[in-house]
Amino acid sequence: MLERSPVRGELVEIADTWRQVQALRSYPPAVSTVLGEMMAAAALLSANLKFHGSIIMQIHGDGPVQLLVVECDASLRLRGTVKLRENAEVADDASLEQLVNQQGEGRFAITLDPADKLPGQQAYQGIVSLDGDSVAAIIENYMMRSEQLDTRLWLAADHHIARGLLLQKLPDEDGTTTTPEAHPDADAWNRSLTLASTVSREELLSTDIMTLLQRLYWEESVRVFEPRHPSFYCSCSREKVGNMLKMLGKEEVDSAIADLGGLDIGCDFCGQQYAFDAVDCAQLFTSEAISDAVQLPGSQQH
Ligand SMILES: [Zn+2]
Repeated sequence: MLERSPVRGELVEIADTWRQVQALRSYPPAVSTVLGEMMAAAALLSANLKFHGSIIMQIHGDGPVQLLVVECDASLRLRGTVKLRENAEVADDASLEQLVNQQGEGRFAITLDPADKLPGQQAYQGIVSLDGDSVAAIIENYMMRSEQLDTRLWLAADHHIARGLLLQKLPDEDGTTTTPEAHPDADAWNRSLTLASTVSREELLSTDIMTLLQRLYWEESVRVFEPRHPSFYCSCSREKVGNMLKMLGKEEVDSAIADLGGLDIGCDFCGQQYAFDAVDCAQLFTSEAISDAVQLPGSQQH
């Protein structure tokens, strides 16, 4: 936080976790960049929202990228995956628009899924059009519209690292706009934006976040909090895959078993395989009614 000013910021660096996400499959470079930037953004927003639970960000694309999903929980545990359309060809320098919004049909969704849901409580989901030519711009627009928070992001990712910087203008305690009386240093917001805007993508990719913080804000009095550490985690389980099969219905599952002899379902996030044979599937439909079968968007692809 900048002392005595209505500005807070966050910096994130995702290295090992990002490598783990990419270890499962290799994405075209342009796709990998978008996924890495989304992971950095999810970590920044997750630490930023006054909310205990998971944040799931999805892009439903109309181009080569059909679906991109990133999930981050309250402990900064992340996972992410991209589903490309069949035979999709992606140029190395493809723009975000070319990847996901060629006909303007792309959609961006943020789901907030509380950690301790009350019975019957649903996750909150907001879906908007893909308004912006970068991941940062799309999220900035979303935050302005849904949270009424002036938020700016700088994101960069390559195959090795994903980094991000977030700045947010804090409202006064009573929620009204910032007044000079409430904050003697009302210019701090513009000043911190100007400083952050000097950071190039190359600099963000090549500079560790503490160096970056010092380089940008050495003239400001910055209060730095204890860092937290992102990690890779996949919440898939045999039970969730079973619930997904139950939702498909007995008829469809029986027909698939008849065709294939058994079902081998792989998790798109972590690669874990779940095998269900005819006996397993029969058991699914004889056990009690569907328990907790609420499907998160992020787990639909199991
Ligand atoms: Zn998994």
